[in-house]
Amino acid sequence: MKVKVAVNGYGTIGKRVADAVAAQSDMTLVGVAKTRPSFEARRAVERGYPLFVSGGGSKDGFTAAGLPIAGTIDDLVGLADVVVDCAPEKVGRENAKKYAAAGVRAIFQGGEKADVAEVSFNALANFDRARDRKTVRVVSCNTTGLARAASVVVPHWGVEHWEATIVRRAADPGETDRGPINGIIPSLHIPSHHGPDVQTILPALPIATTALVVPTTLMHVHVNHVRVSRPPPDVAHVIARFHATPRFRLFAPWEHADGTPQVMEFARDRPSGRPDMMQNVLWEAGIQVDGPDLYFFQAIHQESIVVPENIDAIRAMFGLAPDGPASIAMTDRALGIPAP
Ligand code: NAD
Repeated sequence: MKVKVAVNGYGTIGKRVADAVAAQSDMTLVGVAKTRPSFEARRAVERGYPLFVSGGGSKDGFTAAGLPIAGTIDDLVGLADVVVDCAPEKVGRENAKKYAAAGVRAIFQGGEKADVAEVSFNALANFDRARDRKTVRVVSCNTTGLARAASVVVPHWGVEHWEATIVRRAADPGETDRGPINGIIPSLHIPSHHGPDVQTILPALPIATTALVVPTTLMHVHVNHVRVSRPPPDVAHVIARFHATPRFRLFAPWEHADGTPQVMEFARDRPSGRPDMMQNVLWEAGIQVDGPDLYFFQAIHQESIVVPENIDAIRAMFGLAPDGPASIAMTDRALGIPAP
């Protein structure tokens, strides 16, 4: 039996999650919900996704635009085994009341505080904690990237202390009303919220994060310095461990992917699927080992990195896979993410 999935909020994350659900053989997308007509609503209809009205929107606006509406968000919730809430941050918490009242399971995104759900989730780090849960929060893009990296570093070398500086993109490509456009804005709150957020998944990880915002729309970059307990013998060993883990893409020096523009160009050259980069991106030449100190950069495509995690969260909640690695393999095969 396929799990019936609804997506409420059809923006940057929601449209990607909907496509990802539609690509899985053990799930059915029963519909997507939007507040108002837009080119994205039009695409949903063109893809054959039943479209529902959400968030106080009116059916009339969609009808006037020639977009057929299948019902309201309440109708959609009634059809679903689980709702993936992809509404703007803080709105998910409001929507949670609707899901609870209907007795339907729900997944929330990283824009919500951790207590919106029973557990915060990352497929590599804590798949089993989401088993059989009614509510799960898939953490934010930066937290997902850090949790994935910790899933490699912690078991292999142990962590005494981890410092990460998060260089954040100012806006997503479509967000023309956000900045900065000529400046670097430090986040003066130390530690930034990212470290404590990683600890909602890995409570014992000794990590401290700082952050600053720069004028780009192409990915975040993390600068990591980890004091490890069991130093790796050399850089080749570190590269091999990351290579052997799903959802990491390491660029070799000969590939000349010097920064995020080349990484996203690489994504745009994908033979099929969205031009997204759902893996953590590391540069082999940027990995260094100096005694107990491990250094590496990683780039995170904010619009897509959480998409496979939402699929794995559904599998964990409904027992659709025996374990995390099996779910990750199924998800990645369906999404065209290469296996290690
Ligand atoms: P978005 O603004 O691109 O899309 C949100 C969609 O929800 C829009 O289509 C909006 O019209 C719709 N909406 C508004 N009110 C609603 C309501 N009451 N009910 C249902 N839908 C409603 O936002 P996004 O970037 O996709 O972010 C969604 C969530 O994902 C947030 O929690 C965010 O923090 C998180 N997230 C975003 C990114 C990113 O970089 N964009 C990365 C990871 C996680």
